[in-house]
Amino acid sequence: MSKPVILITTGKQGQLTPRGEIQAVTANCNMQYVHSVVRAGGAPVLLPCMADKEAIQAALLAADGLLLTGGGDILSLAYGEEPHPASKYQDPVRDAMEFEVTRLALDRELPVLGICRGVQLLNVALGGTLIQDVPSQVRGAVKHYSQGLDTVLLHTLDIEEDSLLARVFQTTSMAVNSYHHQAVKDVGLGLRTNCQARDGVIEGIEAADGRPILGVQFHPEELTEKHPRFQMLFDWLVVEAGTSADRSAPDEDSTELSTRTAALA
Ligand code: MN
Repeated sequence: MSKPVILITTGKQGQLTPRGEIQAVTANCNMQYVHSVVRAGGAPVLLPCMADKEAIQAALLAADGLLLTGGGDILSLAYGEEPHPASKYQDPVRDAMEFEVTRLALDRELPVLGICRGVQLLNVALGGTLIQDVPSQVRGAVKHYSQGLDTVLLHTLDIEEDSLLARVFQTTSMAVNSYHHQAVKDVGLGLRTNCQARDGVIEGIEAADGRPILGVQFHPEELTEKHPRFQMLFDWLVVEAGTSADRSAPDEDSTELSTRTAALA
């Protein structure tokens, strides 16, 4: 059986010379996403930032599932707000690429997993909004921005009992890492909240109607080696992608059967 193909979105990074000059711009993907997908039995394919919609569509047509990764802030005009002064690392090409590939994946009913920026992207793609700067806009917020992207379990996560996320993790409370200053505000169309931090900040969303669409604000990819429980999110994505691959693949068995049945008749 062939492995489900998981399309992983990437950002961009300037490659510096020893003298500090930008030599080339490279497609940039944290290898922890790749390792976590491979460990789940998937075949990762990286999608670079590009404006060519037909190229994005062709890449998505070859995929069985979509992983929206972490990165900088989405331009706030996408959800009808002027930018907060603390917003950072905007990239309109990445925004457009990820909105397009998400729209196509939802149209094809492929499973989607959004992580950090990815959960925010998923929410805005479906008409939701974001808190632009948690530290200055949420009264009594806990610390959501750790010193770096790491494996430190920083704050508690309360998971709603009847959610897909609770089924994936088999628990309703656990500690997670946290490396974000933005978060989901108004939840997008057809989505529901599935978990929160103790300060009320939304830490995850999923489809309200049971479609395989899931997003989390923490960084499970950083935790899969040290805390195997977090691998379950990637296992879920790859299993769902395998199901969608089975649906779209030509059914060889039934063709063979109907040929044999015809021969008998
Ligand atoms: Mn957090």
